[in-house]
Amino acid sequence: MTITYQLGDKLYINLTNRCSNDCKFCVRNFKDGVGGYDLWLEEEPSVTEVIAEFDDVSKYGEVVFCGYGEPLTRVAAVVEISQYLQDNYPDTLVRVNTNGQANLIHRGNILPRLQGKIDIISISLNASNATKYQEICQSDFGVESFTAVVDFIKQAKKVIPKVIVSVVSSSNIDLEACRDLASQLEVEFRIR
Ligand code: SF4
Repeated sequence: MTITYQLGDKLYINLTNRCSNDCKFCVRNFKDGVGGYDLWLEEEPSVTEVIAEFDDVSKYGEVVFCGYGEPLTRVAAVVEISQYLQDNYPDTLVRVNTNGQANLIHRGNILPRLQGKIDIISISLNASNATKYQEICQSDFGVESFTAVVDFIKQAKKVIPKVIVSVVSSSNIDLEACRDLASQLEVEFRIR
């Protein structure tokens, strides 16, 4: 079971396979992992199990909550592990890659819980309007999810030092419209 894995100079934490989306482009639909790591979890690791995997974390450029699912499904674990990292490796950057639906999943604003613990949040956008978003990402929360993701980006700006909006490079996605929306939201834009 792959709980943590290294790609380049980054250490990735694989907390869950659960996700509120079923994106048409999701790598989970096509293979069992990335970089030679099998990322399907038999069971979700505890905070203790994750921390037990850490060696000298200061050697990594970043620690990233990512994996084969939506990490903020387990926001309490993200908070606890991030606090451990801030306490023991204050110079190491901590990032969360997310679909931006945590406030729908938890029925309330979870972002203040990440304040002071997360340095960077990268939020998948993948569309510039609600209809297209639902067509591509197939959220459990339906067409309303796009508005919630945009609000999540706005709320994240209040508490996380660096907010990135990302889109997948695909002929099915209007990259320029997404770039314009990121510009309106005054956040960094990345194509991945
Ligand atoms: S949000 Fe990420 S993990 Fe979830 S379905 Fe989309 S690409 Fe896959």
